[in-house]
Amino acid sequence: MRNVVIIGSGCAGNTAAIYAARANLKPLVVAGHEAGGQLSLTHLVENFPGFPIGINGPELVENIKLQAQNFGAEYVHGSVIETDLSQRPFRLNIEGDWVETRTVIVASGASARWLGLESEQKLIGRGVSSCATCDGFFYRGKKIMVIGGGDSAMEEANFLSRFGSEVTLVHRRDEFRASKIMLDRARHNPKIKFMTNTIVEEVMDPSEHKVTGARLRNSKTDEVWVQEVDGFFLAIGHIPNTKVFKGQIETDAEGYILSKGGARTNIAGVFHAGDVQDRVYRQAITASGAGCMAAIEVEKFLEAEGH
Ligand code: NAP
Repeated sequence: MRNVVIIGSGCAGNTAAIYAARANLKPLVVAGHEAGGQLSLTHLVENFPGFPIGINGPELVENIKLQAQNFGAEYVHGSVIETDLSQRPFRLNIEGDWVETRTVIVASGASARWLGLESEQKLIGRGVSSCATCDGFFYRGKKIMVIGGGDSAMEEANFLSRFGSEVTLVHRRDEFRASKIMLDRARHNPKIKFMTNTIVEEVMDPSEHKVTGARLRNSKTDEVWVQEVDGFFLAIGHIPNTKVFKGQIETDAEGYILSKGGARTNIAGVFHAGDVQDRVYRQAITASGAGCMAAIEVEKFLEAEGH
């Protein structure tokens, strides 16, 4: 019987593991299918406090993990594939092995939605990014492309216009999901050029190990052309990793966990941390803070139950 199982090994899960381990709870961390979370997809992280010259994303998240392991946190590879949270102890199926636990911290994150092109996948971290806040700074004076037609795309295009020489916003339709105010702001920004009814066919050039451009197609005219760009930013939404809790943990319509205050979910003893509940901030530092909160709540919960 475990005191606490932490699902996810990004900033939220690993920070929760530090706190839970230091509280002598001997946490088990299930690393998940994207071990290290979103940080493992970026290069340099310059906005995590404490690193004056920045730190590599994968290194930062690995350091947090090592810190947790030094206090006795245990890590297992793989994912939770089935859960029974209907009664305590909770039961989690980790790649075929059932584990019983008194509490759970869900830090399974939200995965960026990608276009799914092979070239795009090969260039992640080499010019292809899903996080303008993380990577925009590297494109000072460069040509940037943003994909999407929702609020995130407008927000990211506006943000990136501070750095880039020009920002091209590419959207597959000519109607936008973005709110009027966000759309107007982007439209009135002289650095942003809109390209609608435009599909990305290929990101170039994997053979050069960096982004040099994108092959685009107009869906109305079928015209195909290559646009030169240095930075290629996806803003086509995120998918919270909550499928395995469906019908048990309350979520909103898109699958994000609904917080019941603090780190609490609708199930007593099950807590949330990080992007799996946060559709607004999505930063390494906020995820770490949320992990800390969840672990403290676990500690208090177990103490109140006499463990
Ligand atoms: P979203 O509103 O779901 O928009 C996603 C956009 O990506 C849509 O324009 C969609 O195109 C496009 N898209 C999806 N899959 C695609 C694909 N495979 N290829 C090309 N394009 C694709 O997502 P979001 O912008 O991330 O916003 C999510 C939520 O957060 C929204 O409720 C939004 O209002 C909120 N948000 C608010 C703020 C703010 O207020 N400051 C900022 C960011 C986000 P289609 O329209 O053609 O489907």
